[in-house]
Amino acid sequence: MTKKLYFDAPLETEFTAEVIEIQRDERGFGVILSETLFYPTGGGQSHDTGTIGSARVVDVIIEDEIIIHILDKEIEVGNYPAKIDWDRRFANMQHHSGQHIFSAVFWKELGLETISSHISGETPTTIDFNKEMLSDKEITLVEKAANKLVFENRAMKAYFVENKDSVPFRRPPKVDGKIRVIEIEAYDYSACGGTHCPRTGMVGMLKIVRTERINQKTRIHFVAGWQALAYFDETQKAAQESAQFLAIGIDALKKTVENQHVQLKSAQSELKKLREMKLEIEAQKMAQLAEAVGEKWLATALFENRNAGELRLLAMKLRAYPGMVAVLASFDGSKLSLVTACADDTDINANDFLQKHLLPLEGRGGGDKSIAQGGGVSDEDSLKDLFTKTKSYL
Ligand SMILES: [Zn+2]
Repeated sequence: MTKKLYFDAPLETEFTAEVIEIQRDERGFGVILSETLFYPTGGGQSHDTGTIGSARVVDVIIEDEIIIHILDKEIEVGNYPAKIDWDRRFANMQHHSGQHIFSAVFWKELGLETISSHISGETPTTIDFNKEMLSDKEITLVEKAANKLVFENRAMKAYFVENKDSVPFRRPPKVDGKIRVIEIEAYDYSACGGTHCPRTGMVGMLKIVRTERINQKTRIHFVAGWQALAYFDETQKAAQESAQFLAIGIDALKKTVENQHVQLKSAQSELKKLREMKLEIEAQKMAQLAEAVGEKWLATALFENRNAGELRLLAMKLRAYPGMVAVLASFDGSKLSLVTACADDTDINANDFLQKHLLPLEGRGGGDKSIAQGGGVSDEDSLKDLFTKTKSYL
């Protein structure tokens, strides 16, 4: 059994590591110490990193109360100066303590039980609660209650008890025997083996940044302490830069964005109407210039790089003219796009016409008797007689 120094000294970072055993397996080179400050992954909190001698501690695992430190290189049995990475540990401590605080206030204020949690100092920490939805009002309520506990700077005590019935646990532990209690002074009691801040003030600001519904639960994502500052900084910068871009103050940002969104929607709808009108006029002109071929009229046009959707719309408009057969093409330098459309009173099937006569070699296309489109690889030379051929097929 490895003695867990982090239980009583969560703020200590340096100690002398006495390597008493070495273990090599698929997880790498591991060492077992007589006692350690390194926290092993468990209870929703991830492990510490740091150094033992000149080796980096890359993972810390606990098995049957024995803590195994996985190193990036081999060392021998003996004594070494050891140090844990404080920034990572402290971020984990702030979030772990924050989890206790949130779990406590969700229970006290809303009667919601914590189902599970995932503690991370790098990405928002998550807690799942047994309710499908949380209102904005509920979120505000628990955020205030949680930060109140922080500002009151209550002690977060860690101690062992022999009898679990002697403690008013929020969720009584399932195991018997010696139990480690984490107490938010006179407010909340839970069984936990993690590392916590000794006072709630050390946790810093607590902020829920997102909630999501997962089956019958709600998952909250929250940030604490340094990560809360980083989140505030990032959010403020985004708001500030957006406001600067619009040459307004941050306080006018929401209203301005809403207004601009409405204006954009209206401009887009206006633009759509104008494009439609433009196509209408274009179709009218093309119909006037259409060539008489027997009983039919043939309208052709070759565009450079014209959008296929627009080509299709134009062809649709052209086929409204009696006797009209329209063949519209667009060439982008290597690929030819084609649309054929035939008025209802012609005996030509647009799809057959396209497939049999017009598509380039190995080109593909499809459609029905009214309109068809397709294309394929082509070159300038084959484009030259495209419409001459078209006319001869009619
Ligand atoms: Zn804990």
